[in-house]
Amino acid sequence: MEELYCIGCGSKIQTENKEKAGYIPPSKLEGEIENIVCHRCFRLRHYNEIIPSTVTTDEYYEILSSIGKEDALVIKILDLFDLEGSMMPELAKLTNNQELIILLNKRDLLPKSINGNKLMHRLKKTFSENNLKPSKVFVMSASKKHNIDEIASYLQEHQNNRNIYVVGASNVGKSTFLNALIRSFTDIKQDVITVSHQAGTTQNVIEIPFLEKHIIDTPGLINEHQFLAYLDDKAAKIVSPKKEIKPSIFQLKPGQTLFFGGLLELNYLEGEQNSFACYVNHLLNVHRTKTENVETLKETHKDDDFFYPKTNGEKLKTITFHLKGDEELVLPGLGFVSIKHPGKVSVTIDARITPIVREKLIG
Ligand code: GDP
Repeated sequence: MEELYCIGCGSKIQTENKEKAGYIPPSKLEGEIENIVCHRCFRLRHYNEIIPSTVTTDEYYEILSSIGKEDALVIKILDLFDLEGSMMPELAKLTNNQELIILLNKRDLLPKSINGNKLMHRLKKTFSENNLKPSKVFVMSASKKHNIDEIASYLQEHQNNRNIYVVGASNVGKSTFLNALIRSFTDIKQDVITVSHQAGTTQNVIEIPFLEKHIIDTPGLINEHQFLAYLDDKAAKIVSPKKEIKPSIFQLKPGQTLFFGGLLELNYLEGEQNSFACYVNHLLNVHRTKTENVETLKETHKDDDFFYPKTNGEKLKTITFHLKGDEELVLPGLGFVSIKHPGKVSVTIDARITPIVREKLIG
């Protein structure tokens, strides 16, 4: 195929991967192929709708290096439900030199009862540990449109003739946020169109006119350390919560195991009777058993759906954690388990995924 580029965002046109920049359905390459517009730019131009696209780490660095050069306002979106996974340390270099606003998304998934000030205090600690110095932090729910108007007004007041770059890992809700934002400011009857791509500017980004400059949507960086990178759509639906999570609480003694579908095995090794509050989607089956019965259980269910969903990974790893009490074991992409008392646990998991322990976020 001759090399073609989208006139909207400058992405190289491709027909293989819907989730990647520059995609168009193969049928669109028949006949007239002048002034070609990729699927994303088409949706934005005709339906005022942003759809997600993703890039790998290498491609991401390329984009960052070019936006790092201008005096811009950077909006970084984090997923409260996968805080560590969405942190993207790659961004620190960029955001250290530019004004940074952090939007903490998916507030609706965490219990309503959490004290907002306490949560913010705890999060500020996480930001400073990650070398992030935001000038402003908003907690929001993009899908429930909570706090969007406030953010839109803040941006209008603080844009100061700069481009606004929106960055985030894939799945943090960047597209949902941008769609909500577009709706919040397009009551001024402005058409949201992508501007014609200029040679030498960053490729793969979509530019939305905003006051005298642009809001620029960068592709999402795929987080390869979390489950969603390895699950198909059906399995992703099972692990992705849509509303406030009510934890399933298990009282465990050493020698007991929790299965999270077929995704991981959490063994309680040492400690007193302990409370394990599992903040995961209600569709994911959390099953308790005696550790000594694990192998038999696997054998019994080797041909059915008991251990569903599963990743396609062939290599597993087992990691041991010594918990201090009042800590959370983060299962990236699934949620977390809040463990009350000190103890020793092990997690057997797809080798590509990295669970961590953190000081508890809630409660
Ligand atoms: P992107 O990859 O960052 O562009 O993320 P999307 O906007 O495509 O959102 C990823 C997933 O998160 C989708 O299933 C959204 O419905 C969901 N999502 C986005 N914002 C929120 C939110 O505020 N709350 C909840 N519960 N889900 C959200």
